[in-house]
Amino acid sequence: MTIEATDDPRLAGHPALAAYPATQQPKKQAPARISVPEPARLSPHGLKATLGGGAAGVVALWGAQVRPSARLDALFATAAHLTGLLAGYGVLVMLLLMARVPAIEHGIGADRLARWHGRGGRHVLTLCLAHMVLALCGYAAHTGTDLLSAARDLLGYGAIAAAALGTALLVAVGVTSARAVRGRVRHETWRAVHLLAYSAAALAFAHQLVGPDIAGSVLAAWVWAMLHATVAVLLLWYRGVVPLRQALRHSLRVLDVRREGPDVVSVVVQGIGLAELRAEPGQFFRWRFLQGRLWRTALPFSLSAPVRDDTLRITVKAIGDHTRRIRRLKPGTRVLATGPFGAMTAHRRTRRKVLLIAGGVGITPMRALFETLPGGPGDITLLYRANNAAQLVLREELEAIARTRQAGLHYLLGPSDASFDPLAPQALRNLLPGLAEYDVYLCGPPGMADAATAALTRAGVPAEHIHSESFSY
Ligand SMILES: Cc1cc2nc3c(=O)[nH]c(=O)nc-3n(C[C@H](O)[C@H](O)[C@H](O)COP(=O)(O)OP(=O)(O)OC[C@H]3O[C@@H](n4cnc5c(N)ncnc54)[C@H](O)[C@@H]3O)c2cc1C
Repeated sequence: MTIEATDDPRLAGHPALAAYPATQQPKKQAPARISVPEPARLSPHGLKATLGGGAAGVVALWGAQVRPSARLDALFATAAHLTGLLAGYGVLVMLLLMARVPAIEHGIGADRLARWHGRGGRHVLTLCLAHMVLALCGYAAHTGTDLLSAARDLLGYGAIAAAALGTALLVAVGVTSARAVRGRVRHETWRAVHLLAYSAAALAFAHQLVGPDIAGSVLAAWVWAMLHATVAVLLLWYRGVVPLRQALRHSLRVLDVRREGPDVVSVVVQGIGLAELRAEPGQFFRWRFLQGRLWRTALPFSLSAPVRDDTLRITVKAIGDHTRRIRRLKPGTRVLATGPFGAMTAHRRTRRKVLLIAGGVGITPMRALFETLPGGPGDITLLYRANNAAQLVLREELEAIARTRQAGLHYLLGPSDASFDPLAPQALRNLLPGLAEYDVYLCGPPGMADAATAALTRAGVPAEHIHSESFSY
């Protein structure tokens, strides 16, 4: 079912927005525009090219030192050195992707980084295991012993024992991240095991520094150490110092908790100097509320309104233990928020016409974009998919924005298994003639987001014009 936003006279003066400071309400005549200094952003292609160049450099380092030989032990050793160097480099890349460097986060997007990290992590683990097996075979062939005796001998060397322990830690990280296991362990458990990857990287570094490829060349040892030091500094800075500095500078506290629906609340957080954060609509923060057991975890939530008057607002659906506790947050509670993160911002836009598609609680970033994306009458359209009208949240605000900006707003209601799919290619084309000329922003549950992406592609929207954010990594 589709409901057009109406010119409901009850919305005059935007009572729907009255619960928020007057300055948070959209301006009456001109569409709201945001003006933020442009933060640096690295493009996905740029990052891939840089990392690919680094991998080529590692292969060149190996190639410069390799001594050609047809002996079995030398062949094993040569292959072991290549896989070892690439594994060491891969561990560094995995850490860099998760270092929360703003230019990478804002250019690539946290969900895409997490996907690259997940996929890359599997390759790194494979390289580590291949290195281990090849080195073992090489040693056994060289000494003429069996594999078990070779393993016992090798573990007698400190650097090799360190590498074996590092590999074991990476295997633990890999196992808890496997799809079948990940869904069964608590997020906090998964995260705690994941932190072991730092120890694994340190152990691998110690191993590599005494290994033949690095220790054999002063230049190689220096470059390797600099690469590790750079990644370590970036991690310390962006995951340690910056969050601490933000906490001290902005002094965030809960201002208000407001019920939006049966399972949904909005939390307004107030602080000092929040414009300095340069948070853009469409982005998210990781929030740690210092109340009860909520302090233990930092949960990602998108901004559901633009930053104004030193307030940030999120809208949260209760789906688990932590999100249920958020409903009981008390005004005055201290908040630690790190961010902003995410790349689904106005920066991605390339077309005049924009279609926003939200599913369920995926409305939160869309609500902020709906208000702020620059555009004239008819340029911006929001499709909001939900099972039924009772599940719609922020509805009055959305209608007030649609009316003020003369933007399109359609509620697409009905169960996902209904015979009529409002997000099917033809249904979308009927709703929006000229759809292929739109930029599309999309946020919703994974199933819906995948189906909508496929439908948009079939309806002629090029993949590079579909910008989406996933709420699950
Ligand atoms: C970028 C992003 C933006 C989001 N924005 C919103 C939003 O605006 N509104 C909203 O209601 N929800 C949003 N979510 C989803 C929200 O973060 C999860 O619903 C919440 O973390 C679940 O916590 P829980 O303990 O209540 O549920 P659980 O049942 O413990 O977890 C449910 C799911 O959330 C994941 N999860 C739990 N804790 C974390 C964590 N600390 N970090 C990452 N994932 C976690 C779990 O792995 C699981 O897949 C967003 C998620 C992401 C990744």
